[in-house]
Amino acid sequence: MNLAKHLSDTEVSAKILRHAVPKMSEHNIPVTPDNYAVWYEYYLGINLDLKRAIDGLISNGISFSTEVNAGLYKNFIQEQSSEIIENVQIETQILINNLLTKISQMNSGTASLNDTLSEFHQDLKQSPDADVLQKLVDSLVDEMDNVISSNKQMEASLNAMSSEVNSLKSEMESLNVLALTDQLTSLHNRRAFEEEVLIHMQRLTKTQESSCLLVIDIDHFKQFNDNHGHVIGDKVLTYIALALNQAVKGSDFVARYGGEEFVVLLPDTELADALIVAEQLRSKIADRKLTVGKDKKLSLGSITVSIGAATLNISDDRESYFVRADEALYRAKSCGRNCVRSE
Ligand code: GH3
Ligand code: MG
Ligand code: MG
Repeated sequence: MNLAKHLSDTEVSAKILRHAVPKMSEHNIPVTPDNYAVWYEYYLGINLDLKRAIDGLISNGISFSTEVNAGLYKNFIQEQSSEIIENVQIETQILINNLLTKISQMNSGTASLNDTLSEFHQDLKQSPDADVLQKLVDSLVDEMDNVISSNKQMEASLNAMSSEVNSLKSEMESLNVLALTDQLTSLHNRRAFEEEVLIHMQRLTKTQESSCLLVIDIDHFKQFNDNHGHVIGDKVLTYIALALNQAVKGSDFVARYGGEEFVVLLPDTELADALIVAEQLRSKIADRKLTVGKDKKLSLGSITVSIGAATLNISDDRESYFVRADEALYRAKSCGRNCVRSE
């Protein structure tokens, strides 16, 4: 027989196998080689007499008992049986070959099925008889059960892996949050600010959305620390952080740039409006009288801040944007502090 014909025959017999076996089990017909040969021929459609006989039985509602099936075999197949059985066996061997190739590409979980198929491949070569075919079908069913159960195990370990991956992912997310958060004040830190500036730069390029930056520095904070100690100094930093955060809109971005310096990014804001925001922040902080102690009896006086403002230009990089706001801050310091200056 030529190989090309056999390869296409293999596809056909695989297709027939998928139809015939369920049909046989539907009618409680044991999958013996003789019985299988009847249904193989029926689905192959070449043996027209057999096909007509079976169609007739179906349309008359006659059940396919083992006896009926044996009759069909005897009347329509037996004469050519040796050729048919040989064909089935050859095609089954080719099927197994194809399966072996596919299985060798799969993982080791199917090694046992692989072994079984190899064994039967050998058996079929040596003794191509009916019993071997029956054994093959039974064992294939067993081995498929094994494959199904090892697939279940694989699914369970995939599920375990996926939940591990999920917890790693959330761990990484919280590490990421940690890396972008200032420990003392819980504001965004300088790194988060630098990332946010990039976003503002992209928005300006893409949609011409304006952006303003406020750089805020606590006045004479060294002196404050010297007078009241670092611990109270830290509390003041936390208070300023909270005050800034509460005073701005949700879309505004507040960060601790470092030390006693804070930054606020105002998206979609013109410089004139940014200066109004800056002035509100400045006066809110200056107006508050700070106290400490159990009954808030110890007065710390007031804290003031100086603020420099700048607007983002299309030609800016991160540094030039910050530098212009910082220079404005420097001028606010020179002008006596507790005031706002713009670029
Ligand atoms: P200016 O008005 O010119 O800004 O004066 P300044 O004293 O605020 O500025 P300077 O740069 O001389 O000093 C900054 C001080 O801020 C130094 C340090 O004591 C204080 N400082 C910086 N980081 C922290 C911090 O995390 N905690 C506390 N308590 N103080 C800090
Ligand atoms: Mg400073
Ligand atoms: Mg300062």
